[in-house]
Amino acid sequence: MASKAPIYLDHAATTPCDPRVVEAMLPYFTQKFGNPGSRNHRYGWESEEAVDTARAQVAALLGADEKEIIFTSGATESNNIAIKGGAYMYEKAPAGSASRGHIVTTILEHKAVLDPVKRLMKEGFDATFIEPGPDGIITADLVKAALRPDTILVSVMWANNEIGTINEIPAIGALCHEKDILFHTDATQWAGKMPVNVEKDNVDLLSMSGHKIYGPKGVGALFVRRRRPRVRLQALVDGGGQERGFRPGTLNVTGIVGLGKAAQIAKDEMDKDATRLLALRKHLEQTLVTRLDSCAINGHLEKRLPHITNVSFGFVEGESLMMAVSEIACSSGSACTSASLEPSYVLKGLGVGDELAHSSLRLSLGRWTTKEQVDHAAERIIASVTKLRTLSPLYDMHKEGIDLSKVEWAKH
Ligand SMILES: *Cc1c(COP(=O)(O)O)cnc(C)c1O
Repeated sequence: MASKAPIYLDHAATTPCDPRVVEAMLPYFTQKFGNPGSRNHRYGWESEEAVDTARAQVAALLGADEKEIIFTSGATESNNIAIKGGAYMYEKAPAGSASRGHIVTTILEHKAVLDPVKRLMKEGFDATFIEPGPDGIITADLVKAALRPDTILVSVMWANNEIGTINEIPAIGALCHEKDILFHTDATQWAGKMPVNVEKDNVDLLSMSGHKIYGPKGVGALFVRRRRPRVRLQALVDGGGQERGFRPGTLNVTGIVGLGKAAQIAKDEMDKDATRLLALRKHLEQTLVTRLDSCAINGHLEKRLPHITNVSFGFVEGESLMMAVSEIACSSGSACTSASLEPSYVLKGLGVGDELAHSSLRLSLGRWTTKEQVDHAAERIIASVTKLRTLSPLYDMHKEGIDLSKVEWAKH
């Protein structure tokens, strides 16, 4: 018997392409295959026009000018161009200092920000990694306290991919502008889900990705501000000068058309999707916390994206929980996706203990998630956690009212 496809609750990892996006892309694989750089014939013009349309669609989503949009291969590349390209362009060694300049970022960032910053540290830049409080919010005050006279770049993600918390981006941007510091935000989880206006939000550089917003994989965009201030970046790759030289190479026309269409749909349907998903997520959380004791939602309870929740379940073992809920495609706080046995650095960064970080699930809903799916998933989780706890002597002690933190464990 073929097993049923698991319920997909991992939209923070990737989303399926919207069929309207696929439809928009199809002609550009076959009939309309021209290189947008070909200036002498219709094939080229046709592709160039399609890229221009997509650029306008992405710009409209962000409240930006078309000239400020650079197409890339995804948010990882956008982050690299922004952070490394920005650091190399604006580096300044204060008198008497060995450092090439100071960068402020946070411990909650995606690896696609942390690793470029760590690379820069090896190359002689300094960096501060801000730690949030237990609510996981990066505030403007936290950023202010981390700034130094030699700070050249601040990079703070808009919303966190593991817990969905929302940082104080407009206020952090205002602070950076006041101090003439370049401000980048990894908005991969935010843009296309929630409103962006790069002017009002005081953003200089913004990364986003197609496949997180119902577009194709392998395409993304970087917003590079052109006025007040005009941001300059050192290119990381040399070539044919496409994308104002920031990202040379023949454009991924099909992918770009898909990203543009995804951006247009996102802009039109964002309010509707967000309202529906918020109600669904609250329903899911309510079901879990009312029916199970010793479970906790990670991160700030209000300042969160509508569609992501991250829940820790006490008295169950992480790996067993993941196996027990194999009917649900979701992510866990234990890093079974990576080679390490370390629990999620994001949850640890909030002060969640190793045990609870391991036994956490990230459930992220999407455009086609139904109430039936959410109810079914909740029942599976409740049944699995309840069953696993019958195997836990610690849970028995907890039920008997023994304070486990006061128990003196025998030393081995
Ligand atoms: C998915 C994700 C990325 C990486 O995006 P790609 O387009 O896959 O390179 C970067 N940052 C955040 C916050 C993400 O969620």
